[in-house]
Amino acid sequence: MKQRFILDFTWLLGVLWVIIIWTGDGYSWNTSGTDWAGDDTTMSLNLGSSTWNDSAEDALYRWNVVSCSSFDFYFNNDNKDRCDRGTACIGTDGNAVEWEDFSNGVCSDAASGALAITRTNWLINYCNADVLFNTQYSWTTSSRNYTTGSPYNFNSVAIHEFGHVLGLQHENDNVATMNSIYHANDHKIHANDKGGLRNIYSVGGCSKVDVAPTNWKKTTSAAVAATLVSSPTSANTGQTINMEWTQENHGTQSTTFDIGFYLSTNSTITTSDTRLGINNNASLSREWVLTGSRNVTIPANTREGTYWLGVYLDYNNNVAESNEGNNALAHPRSIFIRDTIKPSPDPMSWSSYPYETSTTSIAMTAVLATDATSPVEYYHDYYSSTTGGAGGTDSGWQTSRSYTDSGLQANHRYSYRVRTRDSAATRNYSGYSIVSYDYTAIQTPTGITFGSYGTTNINAISTNTPSGLTRGSSGLIIYNSIQGTNSGWKQNNNYWNSTGLTPNTNYAFRARARNGDAALTSYSSYYYRRTLAAMPGAQAFSNITCTSIRANWSANGNPAGTQYYCQNTTTGAYSGWITDTFWTNNGLNDQSLYTYRVLARNANGLQTGWRGLGSQTTADCTPPNPNPMTWATLPYELNTSQIRMRSTTASDSTVPVRYYFDFFTSPTGGFGGSNSGWITSTTYTDSGLGTNHEYGYRVSAMDGSGWQTGYSAISYDFTDIETPSGIDFGTIGATSIAVRSSSKLSGLDRKSSGISIVNKTAGTKSDWQQNNNYWTNIGLKVNTAYTFYAVARNGDGNSTPESPESSRYTLANTPGATAFSDITATSIRANWGGNGNPAGTMYYCQNITAGTASDWISNTYWNSTGLDPETTYVLRVIARNGNGIGTAWTNLGSETTLPTVEPCEGDFDNNGMVDDVDLMAFAASFGRSDCSVAFPCNGDLESADGDVDGSDMITFLEDLGRTDCP
Ligand SMILES: [Zn+2]
Repeated sequence: MKQRFILDFTWLLGVLWVIIIWTGDGYSWNTSGTDWAGDDTTMSLNLGSSTWNDSAEDALYRWNVVSCSSFDFYFNNDNKDRCDRGTACIGTDGNAVEWEDFSNGVCSDAASGALAITRTNWLINYCNADVLFNTQYSWTTSSRNYTTGSPYNFNSVAIHEFGHVLGLQHENDNVATMNSIYHANDHKIHANDKGGLRNIYSVGGCSKVDVAPTNWKKTTSAAVAATLVSSPTSANTGQTINMEWTQENHGTQSTTFDIGFYLSTNSTITTSDTRLGINNNASLSREWVLTGSRNVTIPANTREGTYWLGVYLDYNNNVAESNEGNNALAHPRSIFIRDTIKPSPDPMSWSSYPYETSTTSIAMTAVLATDATSPVEYYHDYYSSTTGGAGGTDSGWQTSRSYTDSGLQANHRYSYRVRTRDSAATRNYSGYSIVSYDYTAIQTPTGITFGSYGTTNINAISTNTPSGLTRGSSGLIIYNSIQGTNSGWKQNNNYWNSTGLTPNTNYAFRARARNGDAALTSYSSYYYRRTLAAMPGAQAFSNITCTSIRANWSANGNPAGTQYYCQNTTTGAYSGWITDTFWTNNGLNDQSLYTYRVLARNANGLQTGWRGLGSQTTADCTPPNPNPMTWATLPYELNTSQIRMRSTTASDSTVPVRYYFDFFTSPTGGFGGSNSGWITSTTYTDSGLGTNHEYGYRVSAMDGSGWQTGYSAISYDFTDIETPSGIDFGTIGATSIAVRSSSKLSGLDRKSSGISIVNKTAGTKSDWQQNNNYWTNIGLKVNTAYTFYAVARNGDGNSTPESPESSRYTLANTPGATAFSDITATSIRANWGGNGNPAGTMYYCQNITAGTASDWISNTYWNSTGLDPETTYVLRVIARNGNGIGTAWTNLGSETTLPTVEPCEGDFDNNGMVDDVDLMAFAASFGRSDCSVAFPCNGDLESADGDVDGSDMITFLEDLGRTDCP
């Protein structure tokens, strides 16, 4: 129960001199009718400490500064008599302001319960005024604002008491400092008090304009307790309430102004506060006060809390006032605004529906709810999981409108709803939002695991199997990003066979999943798998040479860049890894059979099986053997116009082998040389050549494929020279014969050409002569036949056959003369020397005298018979050679025959003697009987009867021994 202390200013009752005077101008202040002469007085403040003295001094000051008043308080701190109550101002010594315990009486007065008492003495004007404060109460110099209980506001009571000192009386029906009931504002002097003061101590021509509110309420005329303007201490947002206010005109003239009504969060009212309403054109008389009331509505958007209602006079500052700082005032009490409005929106709704933020969390955001009484709290209510997922939880009340529910299970469906509440003391709750469903994220595929794969297909699955693939729109998809194909959405993680691929191609796969809401995961990383290379296809060989074969194969679908490995299984040679689809295998032997195979590998080195490419024989490109070609028979002359040659028979597998005999040159300028052209014969005869000319040839062979050997060495040969046709003889002597060929030969001067004359008889021959001049063969025997022939040779020194032979005798020497012998009566033997002539040389001796001759005889004597005895004869002799060529005559001289001599029978050998020789001849023929002319007998001497008998013997014996037979 609030204690109200009613100020009963009983001190007034004890001062009988107080006079109540009503002013005559209708203004409602009360004065005593007495004032201070000189419009001033000095108060002696003696309150025991500066605290009280200072507050009292301030109270004095408040009166001094009232405008349009001529009064001035002075003060000191003297100790004056507080009970100097002389009559008619006798015995007073000053204006004491002191403490006094009123319980023991006040000076000579009875005890009192008043807060303070002012005693005044006056005669015409005041002469003494003592102000005493009752020490029975608790006092404070601190501001007490509108609090009316103990401790009491010393300054307010001092202002009131000093008003009495000035000559003012109580004014109970207006808001006035001089109201008899204590009210607590310090430093305040109301308009009514100022009117009274100005009335007592007026200043002519002074004019002031100033209006100001106060919270004290204008009351009835009774001395009732001072009350404050009323207003509720609580209200709901949006509620209309009634508020009172009191306005005072502190000025000296009637003023019209506008009034603003405000709601403030603090006890200082400014135009920035929430204005609840206005009253325009309020008019208030000078030093007048008015308490009014009006309805104002608390804005619905007012945040719940403690506020102050307040009033702002001339809020729009239309009136020029002497004090513009006193126009606003908050009510003396706060008002608690209660928020009864639900946060908006109501029901609640979603800003972001629940959405998965991971496999274990779902986030959601409510719309931003508004409420005057923030913060608004949100409650995200886990509702259910239609898929049986565990872990769903409510957010609890939180100020964040976002909530992430964690600890959920992957790819399960969870549902939520949300509502809000404000922060009012009694919370206001919105309705729940709709229930919203969402799947947590499905696990992102971590990669691709590959299964079997081939040249055109690859099997792939996700490395991990995301949860709940069969739920809702869940699925898994695998992409072949290179091929641009995918598995389609699958609700399992079985292998997807990506087909139709290119061999040996690297394919990038990745996967993604989607949860029951079809929300996609990110892609897995790419994983790569390369298809196998296709086994190459066989193709025909090409570009076959004698040393190389180009093996060919088809890629069989492999892309460019695929590597192949081709092998010659015959030799073991291989291509190495190449990207061509062929391999030229060099370095082979010609005409050899080789077998090939090939395989491929993909870029990962995985190989296919071997593909047999078959076999192929290399071509023949070896020239025939020997190479270079050689001669089997070097060119040789067949005759004087032909040269024949024979090549070595060349061997080669490719027939026919042909030969080319190349006429190269004729160093001697011979005509007619010609090539053979390509012929199959190993023999070539070049015809139409010049005699004894030198021709050069070379030969080459070529096989059936056109491969040609190198040429043989060039071989030179002379054609034959003509065989000499015979011998011509020149001058013949007894010991020499000049000889030459009877025919002229060609080119005798060429190289080894020549002609040689052979004396076949003598076994001698001439040197090789390079001309056809006579060769004189000397040193021969006399009258000897010599046979000659000629042989020629060509430039190569090849001899011709011998020419036909021809013979000639050397000449005989002229016989030498020697003495005659065997001279008989009828004969003379002429004798001569052979003079070197060989036996057999024929002589012809002539008896010139007898005219007989010997005929040609080979003896070197001649018996010239039948001569006449004793006759002289002249003889000469001549010789001739075998060719009948005679010498000159040799004269043998003359001789004379002897006388006649008996002839001798039996000188068979006619040697002039019948000797043993003749005997032997006779004996040999003795007994024969067949003697005839045809068959002569030695001894048929007797009558030549045809026999040799005794008679013949007698005859023979008669002459035996004779030596003078004629
Ligand atoms: Zn009083």
